[in-house]
Amino acid sequence: MKYKRILLKLSGESLAGNAKQGIDTACLEDYAEQLKSVADTGVQIAIVIGGGNIFRGLQGTKRGFDRVRGDQMGMLATVVNSLALCSALTSIGQKSRVFTAIRMEPIGEFYSKWKAIEALEKGEIVILSGGTGNPFFTTDTASALRAIELEADAMLKGTRVDGIYTADPEKDPSAVKFERISYDEIYAKGLRVMDLTATTMCKENELPVVVFNMDIYGNLKKVIDGENIGTIVHV
Ligand code: UDP
Repeated sequence: MKYKRILLKLSGESLAGNAKQGIDTACLEDYAEQLKSVADTGVQIAIVIGGGNIFRGLQGTKRGFDRVRGDQMGMLATVVNSLALCSALTSIGQKSRVFTAIRMEPIGEFYSKWKAIEALEKGEIVILSGGTGNPFFTTDTASALRAIELEADAMLKGTRVDGIYTADPEKDPSAVKFERISYDEIYAKGLRVMDLTATTMCKENELPVVVFNMDIYGNLKKVIDGENIGTIVHV
């Protein structure tokens, strides 16, 4: 096993399946099964889920919402997704716990590093909701922050593409996948793997990020076993 403690980032849209909005229960079940099979091997898993399948603050501003209000709505959307994933995990017998970045007991426990590590060490899957708790950030930044705080070995970014390409592979058939790429190359080539705040946090704290396709069943386990199926971002 290459990694013993991971932070998995899932976008909100990844929970929506083909509909791209809302929550697709078949998707949830698939993720829950994959997660349980990895947790059963003793790997400690913390998860940050986005909220884009429900609401994004920046999009809200185009519809006349105040940015801070919109971001608060976005953060709440991540809580909704986290509760859904927790419920799917519980239904297949996998212990899991939702933490929130903003106090809202009894919906979730107020996040602290030590409570989260205690749960991870007991074999529970820890779902960290509410982003960073602050507007003007994204869940990519929340993932970077929590991965660093929780001393994860890596941040795994589960997406619908199998890694980072020289160009968008859906638009440019000549695009080539990187097996490895440094943070400096990402800046130099202007690649938007994550937002710049998240990228900088990962670089400054020497956190490796693996971008991989989470929609192929079994891929999560392959990444954790060290198979080279995605792109590794390194310092
Ligand atoms: N958000 C925020 N602060 C955070 C994390 C998220 O305000 O620390 C809000 C922001 O409005 C964002 C929304 O929550 O657009 C959903 O998160 P994100 O866009 O990262 O979700 P994803 O694109 O991964 O589904």
